Amino acid sequence: MMHDGKPAILLHACCAPCVTVPYRRLSENYRVDVFFYNPNIHPDPEYRFRHEEICRLGERWGFSVIPGEYEKELWFDMVKGLEHEPERGARCTVCFRMRLQKTAETAKERQYDGFTTTLTLSPLKNAGLINSIGREIGTQTGIPFIAGDFKKKDGFKQSMDISCSEDLYRQNYCGCIFSRKDDESS
Ligand code: SF4
Repeated sequence: MMHDGKPAILLHACCAPCVTVPYRRLSENYRVDVFFYNPNIHPDPEYRFRHEEICRLGERWGFSVIPGEYEKELWFDMVKGLEHEPERGARCTVCFRMRLQKTAETAKERQYDGFTTTLTLSPLKNAGLINSIGREIGTQTGIPFIAGDFKKKDGFKQSMDISCSEDLYRQNYCGCIFSRKDDESS
């Protein structure tokens, strides 16, 4: 579906600060809606707050936010046995795949022209891995994946500056309770 001559894409995002730079860069070529599907975020108040912050930014910047289901039990089932993996380990690969798969399926159901994710903005995340999972899911679902690495060209620093000027909440851990423990122990 085209909007003002631009293809429409679904951008998976986990928090408002991560939307900032990807949204601005992608909006040059696409009509972008944001998909909040993150069963990996705990505890519940943190999940709700990140969702509210994305919606608040959406109202201000003019993008729609599509809420995904909070399938927390399913997420814990999927990462069973990987609880003690460090961040960037095998648990994260499962977590990326689950969220990208749902984004692609939702993009297909709602007839978007493509999908992508803000996840490559983080300096802690492996863009090569995320892009290869995205491409694989894109091929399997028939919805093109838009590969990127948003941390490049100072993307992460820009996102911090925008988050500061927009007064956005910035959490200090990735999302799951295991990453919160890592953060607390460091
Ligand atoms: S550290 Fe982040 S990416 Fe890895 S499993 Fe936890 S929430 Fe998912």
